[in-house]
Amino acid sequence: AGADNIIDGKAVAASVRATLKSDIAALATTYPGFRPHLSIIQVGGREDSSLYVRMKEKAATEIGMRFTHIKLPNETTQDQLLAHIRELNQDASVHGLLVQLPLPKGINEEVVTEAIDVNKDVDGFHTLNMGNLAKRSTHPRFTACTPKGIMHLLAHHKVELAGKQAVVVGRSDIVGMPMFQLLQKANATVTLAHSRTANLADIVRQADIVVAAVGVPELVKGEWIKPGAVIVDVGTNAVPDASKKSGTRWVGDVEYAAAKQRASLITPVPGGVGPMTVCMLLANCVEAAKRAAANGMVR
Ligand code: NDP
Repeated sequence: AGADNIIDGKAVAASVRATLKSDIAALATTYPGFRPHLSIIQVGGREDSSLYVRMKEKAATEIGMRFTHIKLPNETTQDQLLAHIRELNQDASVHGLLVQLPLPKGINEEVVTEAIDVNKDVDGFHTLNMGNLAKRSTHPRFTACTPKGIMHLLAHHKVELAGKQAVVVGRSDIVGMPMFQLLQKANATVTLAHSRTANLADIVRQADIVVAAVGVPELVKGEWIKPGAVIVDVGTNAVPDASKKSGTRWVGDVEYAAAKQRASLITPVPGGVGPMTVCMLLANCVEAAKRAAANGMVR
């Protein structure tokens, strides 16, 4: 396997963004003045959160989406935050709404997530969206962006999932668990591994598809990889590196160089899964706007 087994998330994300941009232009032709609108509430000034919100804003405005950033002070109470959410739930011009996590101490993230209108929940974190993903007979309004982006990458590379053995390492609400659900819905046989899993190496050795979403640098060893397996590395870990100007470099949850020798396809870190996440947020928001327009809500 050579360089041609690398999944180029940046390129796939760019092509998805181009499609979304033309979708938005088409909507504006059909409904003059109508624009998909993403609204993000940020409480407090965490630097990492501000950076993520800026990335989302840049991506949204570049494709012609309307973007509103509601910045609330660190002292905001839960009730005040809920009042803002209610107002934006009511605002027909807003199609996608999310509250940037984590929230300051004293605000219950569960309560806040549940307050968002399911039809505007472009992060896909509402219990109804997560629950409908888990049920066999239902479909969520929106699916969490990172797992959705991974499914898009797998489809783009025509990775066969039905009947395959898949292992997801990590069971977070935002990545591991919805990833597990999506893979089983696609008829893979899925093992969900976590910090209490015994013999992770043996489990990974069986897998045709491995998704690592742990947050431990190079936890999944190259020698565990079944030859020909497809490797998706969600981990984004900053490790010290004196040779870099920033003093750190990004490392995934998979021992990349060794795994690449065995894998049929592998996502690099950075440039694999990461670029798809924001892209799927935009996709969810365009979808929300299309549904609103189809229901006659075009102001
Ligand atoms: P969480 O910390 O919420 O979850 C980590 C999961 O890994 C938990 O289920 C935990 O198990 C499991 N785990 C921890 N240690 C081990 C171990 N030694 N062996 C097996 N499983 C283990 O992380 P997230 O899901 O939020 O994120 C995971 C990684 O993905 C991080 O590096 C994060 O930065 C990155 N990320 C990247 C995104 C992107 O767009 N590229 C988006 C989101 C996250 P347990 O449940 O038992 O505690």
